[in-house]
Formats: sequence, structure tokens, C-alpha cells
Amino acid sequence: MEHICDELKKLNGRLNIKTDVSMKEYTTFKAGGRAACLVEPYDAASLSDIVKLCREKDIDYYVLGNGSNVLFADDGYDGLIIHIGADMADMTADGDIITAGAGASLPSLSSYAASKGLSGLEFASGIPGSTGGAVAMNAGAYGGEIKDVIVYAEVCDIYGNISRLCADELELGYRSSIIQKKDYIVCSACFKLNAGDIKTIREKMSDYNNRRREKQPLSYPSAGSTFKRPAGYFAGQLIEQCGLKGYTSGGAMVSEKHAGFVINKKDASAKDILDVIAHVKDTVYKNTGVMLETEVKIVGKENTLNIITFGYKYEKPPVCDMMIDVRSLPNPYYVDELKDKTGNDDDVYDYVMSSKEAEECIKKIKEDILEYVKKEKRLPIVGIGCTGGRHRSVTIARALKDSLLKEEYTVNLKHRDIDK
Ligand SMILES: Cc1cc2nc3c(=O)[nH]c(=O)nc-3n(C[C@H](O)[C@H](O)[C@H](O)COP(=O)(O)OP(=O)(O)OC[C@H]3O[C@@H](n4cnc5c(N)ncnc54)[C@H](O)[C@@H]3O)c2cc1C
Repeated sequence: MEHICDELKKLNGRLNIKTDVSMKEYTTFKAGGRAACLVEPYDAASLSDIVKLCREKDIDYYVLGNGSNVLFADDGYDGLIIHIGADMADMTADGDIITAGAGASLPSLSSYAASKGLSGLEFASGIPGSTGGAVAMNAGAYGGEIKDVIVYAEVCDIYGNISRLCADELELGYRSSIIQKKDYIVCSACFKLNAGDIKTIREKMSDYNNRRREKQPLSYPSAGSTFKRPAGYFAGQLIEQCGLKGYTSGGAMVSEKHAGFVINKKDASAKDILDVIAHVKDTVYKNTGVMLETEVKIVGKENTLNIITFGYKYEKPPVCDMMIDVRSLPNPYYVDELKDKTGNDDDVYDYVMSSKEAEECIKKIKEDILEYVKKEKRLPIVGIGCTGGRHRSVTIARALKDSLLKEEYTVNLKHRDIDK
């Protein structure tokens, strides 16, 4: 990893670069291992240069905001952490429009809006994330969410290209967005608010914050609600109903104050936290039939599924544990308007995924992965190949990632031959 630090220094002398970083210091859970290298871009252009360098040198990276919804495993992360923080936190107001750098914290963004007499971001005043993380997660509370106020986000794609995505294009849903699905990085976001009375706005913010202090275990490190709200239920209620309040493993515990929070009671390792999560999921499922899904992102070697797409007309990637051949799926290469595109384009994706075979293919790959995990006790490196490595393999890898985002996996996609 030393070489990436050297490359980054060569790339841009202004970048703040750190090596062998404790992720405890960068996450609100205050747990987990170390990252090999961390870099802090200071604007969209420096971010784009970092992404391009990573692509060119084949370096894995993970984007981190304020670390309030992530847990790094104890074995750490051996790629590059791109930390979007205080160096990208500018905020400006123009009438009822506020634009904020992705690194601006939500509480400061909310206060800034209040100071300008703008209403709409009160819900965010107690959410300890960054603006970029909030867009990626479509953060929300007390009936408000990012989706209600965002106009557009400036994003960097996996090739380092900067563009704007309007609200519709962001596909914001419950704790989900196109940002997570397509690995975009949010550089900044623009919000449309409503003129309001400063005093009333501030009263609303302090009411929300009082309610949080009353109900949530804010004196302990955590990542907020550990689980997503299952349709028709509240995760906290189900967990409490199963008698799990106070359930402990090592230093981690289901909060006595709010059962939806797993807290770091005392010097918890990531394993302690993951053990509590696994026990809660298991018990709730056995008792209620509801499978809880974690809202917290779990990052680490053990939880990372690496998928490499490739073309059979070039060589097979030798590192793969499993090879999936998708050459029997309908080929967009033979459709004139799709020929020069790739599986990263939505029309190619839709063309491939509209076939029944594609759906079956995803189901089969998931079963094979589970089978492999059962046997080998680790996640495989999965190779997905089509003829040229640009259309069908990329589409299937994207669709697989989408469906695996619901499990506790971080999915790392590498499209080896897409540019050929
Ligand atoms: C005490 C507490 C209370 C909370 N209450 C709420 C709540 O009421 N509502 C709520 O929705 N959440 C809540 N959260 C969770 C969390 O604060 C939100 O999910 C927040 O939006 C995460 O932002 P972050 O910057 O910390 O993201 P991180 O934790 O750093 O990252 C979360 C995800 O977003 C991605 N990401 C981060 N920055 C960017 C970026 N610039 N571009 C692209 N992707 C990015 C990461 O890769 C990761 O997948 C709470 C957390 C805590 C600790």
C-alpha cells in the first residue's frame, strides 16, 4: 500500500494522506481495525484525480463520510479510504437554495439553513452524518428525508467523471439510492428549502434533538439504528419483544434504552458487535419470522465479495474461485443502438435483465455463492464472463450487487475488460 501513498503524493502535493489509520477514530461505533491508507480530497477535481489513479493502478477504495453508519471489521481494510470531510464542507445560500459540500456535517447544514431563515432541513439537525453520506443513504427522521429537499447532487463516477444527477435520477428510496448501486461519490448537493421564521425553525430542531436525547442511547458509541425498518414493523419493537434488550457479547450490547441500537458499551471489538447483530437477527427470525436487514454498512475482508467481470476472448482472471459464464444470455452487442455501450448503461442493463434467463442466472449465482461460503467458510472471488466483458457480464455483476446489498456484504466490482 506504500506505493499508493507515494502515487497520491506525486499526483497532488496538497492532498492530506495518512497511513495505517485506526478506523475507530473515523467511525461513531469507535470499533474496528485499521486501514492501510486514507486520503482527503479537497474538491471535486482532486477527488476525480484520486478515482482515476485508483482505476489506473487497480487500487480498491472505500468512500467514507462521517462514519456514522459504518462498521469496519477487526481485520481492517487493506485498500484506500477516500474520506470526504472538512476539506469539502463549504456551504452557500442563494435565496431559498442551499448548496453544501459532501463533507459538510448534517447538523451544521441544518443550523446553516436555520440561520438563513430556511425551513426543510430541521429533521437533519441530530443526524451525525455528512451531507454526502446522507444523500447516499437518503437519511431521514421525524417525517423528513433528503428526498424531500434535494434538487441535485454533483457526483463522481467510477471513471472519475463529474456530473450532476437531479432528484429523480438519484432514485432515493428508504435508505437507498443510485449512489450506492452505481458507486457514485457525492461531491456536493443542492437543496431547495422554504422561507420560514428562524425562531420556529430553531424550536423544531431543538424539539427533535430533545426527543432523540430522551429515546436514544446517545452517551454510547453506536451507528444509530442498526437495522432497517422491516415493512409493517419497527425493528426496535421486535427486538424488545424477543427479550433482547441488554443482550451482550463482549463489549457490545443491545441498548436498554432503545432496542434498535446496538451500542459499544465498553471497548467492543467489531466481532462483539457483529456477534450481537447475528444473535439479534437469528432470534428475531426464529420468534417472529421477520428477517432483519442491517442498515449499518459492514466493511472488511471477510464481508467483501469481490466480483471481476471479463471477456472470454481475453484470458480468464486467474484469481477467481468461481467462474460464471453468461454467454447464453441475450447479447446487446447485436442491437445497433446498444453495441457501443456497456452494462453500466441503463438501456443495456434493462435489455439483458428483461430476459427470464437473467433472473434465473442471478438466483443461481447467489445459491452457488452461499454453497461456496458453507463449504469454504469464506466468500469467493467471483468471475463473471461474457464474450467481450462489456455488456452481459457487467450487467449481471451490477444486478448481483443490487441484490446482495440487502445482505451484510460489501460488494466490490471490477470490470476488467470494459474499456477494451
Ligand atoms: C446516534 C445516531 C443517530 C442516527 N440517526 C439517524 C436518523 O435519524 N436517520 C438516519 O437516516 N440515519 C441516522 N443515523 C445514521 C447515519 O448518521 C446516517 O446514515 C448518515 O446519513 C450517514 O452519513 P455518514 O457521512 O456518516 O456516512 P458514512 O457512515 O461515512 O457512510 C455510510 C454510507 O454512505 C457512503 N458514503 C459516505 N459519504 C459518501 C459520499 N460523499 N458519496 C458517496 N457515498 C458516500 C459510504 O460509502 C457508506 O456506504 C444515525 C447515526 C447515529 C450514530
